[in-house]
Amino acid sequence: MKTIRLILGDQLNQKHSWFNDVDEDITYVMAEMRQETDYVKHHIQKVVAFFLSMRNFSTTLSEKGHQFIYLKISDEDNPQNLEKIITTYINKTKAEKFEYQLPDEYRLDEQLKNICDALDVETEAFDTEHFYTTRYELKDFFEGKKQLIMENFYRTMRKKHDVMMVNDQPDGGKWNFDQSNRKKWKGEPKIPNEKTFGKNIENLITAIENAEVKTFGNIKPDNFNWPTTREECLSVLEYFCKELLVHFGDYQDAMHTEEKFLFHSRLSFAMNSKMLSPKEVIDTVLDHYYQNTEAIAISQVEGFIRQILGWREYMRGIYWKEMPNYSTLNKLENQNELPDFFWTGKTDMNCLKHSIGQSLDEAYAHHIQRLMIIGNYALLTQIHPDEVDKWYLGVYIDAIEWVEITNTRGMSQFADGGIVATKPYVSSANYIHKMGNYCSDCTYSHTKKLGENACPFNALYWNFLDEKKEHFKNNNRMAMMMSLLDKKDKEELSELKKRAQAVIQNPDNF
Ligand code: FAD
Ligand code: SF4
Repeated sequence: MKTIRLILGDQLNQKHSWFNDVDEDITYVMAEMRQETDYVKHHIQKVVAFFLSMRNFSTTLSEKGHQFIYLKISDEDNPQNLEKIITTYINKTKAEKFEYQLPDEYRLDEQLKNICDALDVETEAFDTEHFYTTRYELKDFFEGKKQLIMENFYRTMRKKHDVMMVNDQPDGGKWNFDQSNRKKWKGEPKIPNEKTFGKNIENLITAIENAEVKTFGNIKPDNFNWPTTREECLSVLEYFCKELLVHFGDYQDAMHTEEKFLFHSRLSFAMNSKMLSPKEVIDTVLDHYYQNTEAIAISQVEGFIRQILGWREYMRGIYWKEMPNYSTLNKLENQNELPDFFWTGKTDMNCLKHSIGQSLDEAYAHHIQRLMIIGNYALLTQIHPDEVDKWYLGVYIDAIEWVEITNTRGMSQFADGGIVATKPYVSSANYIHKMGNYCSDCTYSHTKKLGENACPFNALYWNFLDEKKEHFKNNNRMAMMMSLLDKKDKEELSELKKRAQAVIQNPDNF
């Protein structure tokens, strides 16, 4: 039967069973679309990485004999919209059936269902064959339970998929080595050079500019280093195993002005675009570990496995359990606007200058920069979660709504009132100083609470706890912080609140 099969930009799974056999009745359709470049303003590196990976994917599979229609952003006959593309190519190829892989975004899922309802040919949706879990597996797992707990889900995943298990017990005798993953990096151990590809992407940038796609952020046209083929992704994985895994867990939470990537894998784009599957990442890492147990401690490996088998699948499950309502949640009723410096990195607060500057330069920041610097500031200054979400969704190379919104609105902004995190991730300068070296070269003093050069995070922290205390009065995990707030000298608190208001009113002056 003549069939059209749609492949979206984050469905670049070459190992999908669709490609087991070449069938001349099947035509695959891929398209760079304004509908996808414009729903939020994206970092230029993100647009380049997706388009280049899509082009490479269609070229590789065409070379294997599959028939592809590929629409570039600048093609004159590109309708730039999913519905028009699907109907146009069903008509052109006289297809009798339309098939697609289930999208990971609610927005696209709804759109495709609506398109299918209106088509007068047979339609069918397929799994992407990427994740460990199905869309609703987490929802079923927690059915009837009061509180979602990642650790319970993670342990079940470990058992179900036989990952780091020995005779039904966790390898190393413990499920979780998180406590050993809290080291500050002080120049040692040396961090291996970044894995680079040095691609020239001038033509693609010109095409994106000519199509008038609005983007932001920085890019080096002759030195693009994100992996955009499956082979490149595999080489990043190999590099991680050989060079970085040995210290991954120890320095997972560390931050440093001179080291943007530390021991992080930078595999999120490779996985979120589905060029690599989480299973092959985990299997490769474990193979490497079990061949090198003398050199690599189990805590380094378990920390990494937990992120992928635990957090990544957990976030996806929460997304499908909670959408579409999740995208409107604002339980802390935050209303402020995003400061301008989020788009420029121009601020005297050194931790934010580095973390935001790096995000604009690299389309990447690691987890603790996203959570405890940028997210922490956004929450303490009570920025509306819609604004925060839009920024995170646009800026990071790996940002796709299912994993962006659960991390940003949920884990980081506590806008879901505690679905993802049991308490808000907020801190004063103390934590930032403990985990990195930003404070040592800052205009502000991390130890001072009041006065012109006092670190803004200190006043913002107490102000936040005070302003939001009604929200936290029944939260056991906040009890200690709330009792410290209660004991605070009233005059000091009032001064702290004044300073916090000065920061909130004029964020770009700090
Ligand atoms: P590593 O530190 O090397 O970790 C390995 C892998 O574990 C990552 O590639 C990722 O696939 C997975 N992982 C780690 N933490 C998480 C997590 N919390 N949720 C899901 N997967 C995780 N991740 C995204 O993929 N897309 C996003 O849009 C995104 N937005 C975030 C927003 C905020 C506010 C925060 C706090 C975190 C966000 N994360 C997001 C999670 C995490 O920060 C990134 O996955 C990670 O920084 C990617 O870099 P890496 O590949 O070097 O990760
Ligand atoms: Fe950030 Fe405050 Fe430290 Fe400066 S002193 S780097 S603003 S935490």
